[in-house]
Amino acid sequence: IVWRKSLVDLTLHLFIDYGLIKLFRLDLLKLRQFLVMVHEAYRRQNPYHNALHAADVTQAMYCYMQEPQLSESLTSCDILLGLLAAATHDLDHPGVNQTFLIKTNHYLASLYQNASVLENHHWKCAVSLLRESGLLSHFPSEDRQNLEERLGSLILATDISRQNEYLSQFRAHLDRADLHLNNSQNRHFILQMALKCADICNPCRPWHISKLWSHKVTDEFFSQGDSEKRQNLDVSILCDRNANTVAKIQIGFISFVVEPLFLEWARFSDTPLSQIMLGHMTSNKYKWTHLPQEDLRESTQSTSSKTLPQGGLGP
Ligand SMILES: [Zn+2]
Repeated sequence: IVWRKSLVDLTLHLFIDYGLIKLFRLDLLKLRQFLVMVHEAYRRQNPYHNALHAADVTQAMYCYMQEPQLSESLTSCDILLGLLAAATHDLDHPGVNQTFLIKTNHYLASLYQNASVLENHHWKCAVSLLRESGLLSHFPSEDRQNLEERLGSLILATDISRQNEYLSQFRAHLDRADLHLNNSQNRHFILQMALKCADICNPCRPWHISKLWSHKVTDEFFSQGDSEKRQNLDVSILCDRNANTVAKIQIGFISFVVEPLFLEWARFSDTPLSQIMLGHMTSNKYKWTHLPQEDLRESTQSTSSKTLPQGGLGP
């Protein structure tokens, strides 16, 4: 199927388009091998957290990095990192959340002491694939180390349980108008915020695309809930298929997570793209709230096998 390798093709294309291969003297073969390994390290049996989600996030990250404020100030190193982080940010996602890993005594939970367990794992996987592929083996070790650290800091920012921390920092910066993109720390912070936006931008896509993602993510939540029931564990929040609907989950997600973040993003980057995204988000929320249940109901089985449309580079 076309999308199977979309993460490889898209990321490779963007590396070439940005001139990163020449600039960083990357070996094209190693880059391709690295991207294929990244693609393979996503679990295709996950309804949502698979390589297609990574491709979607990479595409969104590209769009945000093209916004005037960022494109004028980002360095090639920032762009390299932004693309790498987007493509690898959910590597080897097990299709269950941190709560599940903790309550089933999964080794990853104890390895990372119950904090940002998944994100730490994604980061470590990304580093191990980078090293295994030798993609950056010609970099001075100090630069390589710095890049791996920054990659970690970007991926760890996608931990949704730390959303408020990042959001209030972002808000405070915007209130004080003290984000200066010639400052590398500020640029890094904006890359973190851009990646966070890219990671949860599904509700900002047009309805027919947004709706498919919503069903896919709910499939994954409910299958965790089923597994919790089988193991006589308490069913995690949002994971009980008898107590939730796709619409209910989406309305909560948009109201408490997506909307607050994208409103700040639009304050930072007040562009046509930000306005389009806010428009889609508002209209999607309206549809989930007001459309009759019959129009929203789709068997989760049938949607999970549906291929997402191949969109252009727009939102
Ligand atoms: Zn993600």
